[in-house]
Order: sequence, then structure tokens, then C-alpha cells
Amino acid sequence: MNTHYDLIALGGGGGGLAVAERAAQLGRRVAIVEPNKLGGTCVNRGCVPKKIMWYAANIAHAVHDATGYGVRAEFGGVDWVQLAESRDRFVADINDYWTDYARELGIDVIRGYGRFEDPHRIEVDGQTYTALHTVISTGGQPLVPRVPGAELGITSDDFFALREQPHRVAVIGGGHIGVELAGVLRALGSEVAVIGMESRLLEAFDPLIGDTLVAAMRTQSVSLHLPFQVAALERDTDSIRVRSAQGETLVGFDTVIWAVGRAANTRELGLEAAGVAVQPNGIVPADAQQRTNVPGVYAIGDVTGRSPLTPVAVAAGRRLAERTFGEQPDAAMDYDDIPTVVFAHPPIGSVGLSEARAVEVHGNGVTVYETAFTPMRYALVEHGLPSAMKLVCVGPEQRVVGIHIIGEGADEMLQGFAVALKMGATKADFDRTVAIHPSSAEELVTLKHGRPAARTERCAEAA
Ligand code: FAD
Repeated sequence: MNTHYDLIALGGGGGGLAVAERAAQLGRRVAIVEPNKLGGTCVNRGCVPKKIMWYAANIAHAVHDATGYGVRAEFGGVDWVQLAESRDRFVADINDYWTDYARELGIDVIRGYGRFEDPHRIEVDGQTYTALHTVISTGGQPLVPRVPGAELGITSDDFFALREQPHRVAVIGGGHIGVELAGVLRALGSEVAVIGMESRLLEAFDPLIGDTLVAAMRTQSVSLHLPFQVAALERDTDSIRVRSAQGETLVGFDTVIWAVGRAANTRELGLEAAGVAVQPNGIVPADAQQRTNVPGVYAIGDVTGRSPLTPVAVAAGRRLAERTFGEQPDAAMDYDDIPTVVFAHPPIGSVGLSEARAVEVHGNGVTVYETAFTPMRYALVEHGLPSAMKLVCVGPEQRVVGIHIIGEGADEMLQGFAVALKMGATKADFDRTVAIHPSSAEELVTLKHGRPAARTERCAEAA
């Protein structure tokens, strides 16, 4: 194996694979250092296995709703082992694909943990490799807070290793991973409590989203504890209890899942030896060209703390390779208006500014259009899940700067609308577009009756 390369990527997740693939296609000598399976968090412990579980949950929902449509079906529970094994086989096929593809492209995969000796020298298991360009793409791992009994809980990584369905589950965390896992478990028949530190779910999103999701979760009999500051986990005879800082105790869980955030994998990287600046929380700051403070050392993906999503890591990696080795010297990542989907039940799609953020950025002249309804999918079903949508528009021309959707189909609906927002579409462009009927998406092009944005005290000051 070579020991000198044009580029070495530390980490073979979405970001590392993307930069390595494009650099190799451009004829460069490339290596990826990776201790685990190729594909990183997304393929092995994130998007892919999560989406399989989400599909399983949707099928369970459809079975529950079948009777309303006169279709004879009865939910008899889930064969968790079959589901987990089939899911893992699908993931293993993706691992194999990447291994073969890397070989075809002539990318060397160096097995082990990489550590900087200096900006251009990486040590792996006692062997030193050198490169003109080094890329930090080591991603992140689930955070477990330092509270007594924390070890009684599992993380999202452990969730995907479960070989038995948990029956009474506490999900600690009201962010996107928490609400996704909670939705899956509830649909598959577990009793689920969601415990969040904030008074709202999905605090980072427009409040319309969190409020509607709370209503949807109540319809699904998920018990919600918001806000609830977890102070300790304690073992009962045959279960786990969760204690709050305020003395409240929730009892009877067989499984507790920590979903309270992720930390960058940068502690053991020897960044000090390379002189790379790192924040106390492990984040490596990088600009739109993915440059760190050290020439020739780049950071992409979750380690940068910017929009921790696979397509962001992939796009950043591709642009970095194009700029460094290709014919696109200006290639840079645009971190604005990145669409995000949360695979909750119902799903959520959001792009651009929330109402409050639009007021902070644009001051007066923010107009909001919103609607809430029950989709036709639930017309014959007893307990339908709600949908809600909001368009945030600015200026006299009413340029659309925020689109927020929760409800049936939101996951697939958002991508096209995100293109429109990115192109600078106005409310009039939406109005000019003929609706698709009957659909949920048509609501977005038939919104009427705008109202001025709500101005919180903070927003008013900033404006
Ligand atoms: P990673 O994919 O984490 O890859 C980093 C790699 O670096 C890992 O393979 C690791 O083994 C390796 N590594 C660590 N230390 C070293 C070292 N010292 N030397 C060499 N290699 C090292 N994103 C979406 O877009 N859509 C989703 O639906 C979605 N769902 C998610 C669900 C869950 C439960 C989780 C946890 C995440 C989800 N994400 C989703 C986020 C997505 O997985 C990440 O944004 C993405 O994987 C980031 O890619 P990355 O290349 O930065 O890092």
C-alpha cells in the first residue's frame, strides 16, 4: 500500500467518501482512514436503518387504519428480529457497495483510527501516511449526560442493535432523533414517553411544527413530559425510573434512550499536533471552502457543527474536491436554506427562516400564511393525524423565505418547494401555480389571508 497521497480523509462516512470519490475520479491518489464500516453514521447507525424502521412504522399505521377503509387487517405486532435482521442485511449491502466501489476507484482504505502528527502526517496503528491535503471527516457520536445512573440508558446507536422490542420506553430528548425513535416505537406497539428539556418539541423549528407534533403524539397516546430536566436514572426491581431535578419521578421503563445531542469525534485526533483550532465542544470551525485555520487541513460534515445532515457533508466533500483538484476554483458550500426532513409521525419538512427568525433578519414587512387541516388520507379513519403548513414571506414582493410543513407526505413534498425558495419564488409565483387535487401539497399554492408576523419582544428589539 502507498504511504503518500494527494488527499487523506479521516473518516469514511458521507463526507469522507464524497471527497475521496470525487478526488479519485479527478485522477488523484486518495486514502480513507476508517476504523469501522464504510458509510459512517448515516448508513450504519443513522438515516438508513432509521428510515427502514420508519417504513415499518408506516406499515403498522396503515394496518391500524385499514378497517376504516373496509380492508380487513389486524395489527398482530411486529417480528422485531426479522425486521432488525432484514434491515441489517440491507445496510451490509450498502457497506459492500462502498467497499467495492472504493476499490474500483483506486481509493486505499486504511483500517484504524487516524491521528495527526502534523498537518500532513497521519498516524494509524504505528504507520505514518502523508498527504498534501488532509480532511477531518470523523463525524460525531451520541452524547450521554453525566447524571447518576446515565449508564442505565442506551443511545440511538444501541437502539439499532436491539434484538428484542422494548415495551415501555422513555425517550429523553425532544429533538429530531428523539421524536423519530419515539414515533417508530409507538407505531410498532411500544408504550412511549418523550421527556424533553424544553417546553416544546423540536425547539429549533418554527413553533407551528412542535405544537402540531405535540397534538399528533397525544393522538397516538405518546406520553409527553415537557419541560423535564432529567437529574438521574435509577434501577427499580425490574425496571428503570427517571427522576427530574424538580423531584418528579417517572417509573416502569424497560428501556431508556438518550437522544440529547451528539458530540464531534475530534478528541483523540491529535488536532493540537496539527495546530488545528477546535472549540471546547469538539467542533472544528471551517469556512464555506471547508478550510480550517491550517492551510491544507479541511473539515467537512458533522465535525464542523454546521447543518449535521448527510447531504450537507456530501455536498461539502464534493465541492472541496472540485475546488482543490478540478476545474471549479470557486466551488464552495452554500449553507443557507438547506431543506430538512424529520421522519416523525407525521413527517416534517422545513426550509428557510422560521417566522421569528424572519422578523429578526428582515424586521417589518414579514407576512405569514398558514393553514391546519386533516388530510383526506384520514377521511375514513377514526383518529387522523393533523397537518399544518406555514409560508413566511418578506417585503412588498412577498418573497418566500420560509416553508414549514408537518403532515402526511411532507417528507416528499419539501424538496421541490425548496428549489422554488432557493430560486427566490414569491407568493405570487405560488399563487400562479395550478394546484394538484386532491393532495395535501395543493394547500401550499392556495394559501390566502396573510397576517403580519408575530413580533416577540426579542425580535422587536433586534429589528
Ligand atoms: P459520519 O457519517 O459520522 O462519519 C464519520 C466516520 O468517521 C465514521 O465512520 C467513524 O467511524 C469515523 N471516525 C471516527 N473517528 C475516526 C478517526 N480517529 N480516524 C478515522 N475515522 C474515524 N441525516 C440526514 O441527512 N437524514 C436523516 O434522516 C438522518 N437521520 C439520522 C438519524 C440518526 C439516528 C442519526 C444519529 C443521524 C442522522 N442523520 C441524518 C445525520 C447524518 O447521519 C450525519 O449528518 C452524517 O452521517 C454526517 O456525515 P459525516 O461524514 O460528517 O460523519
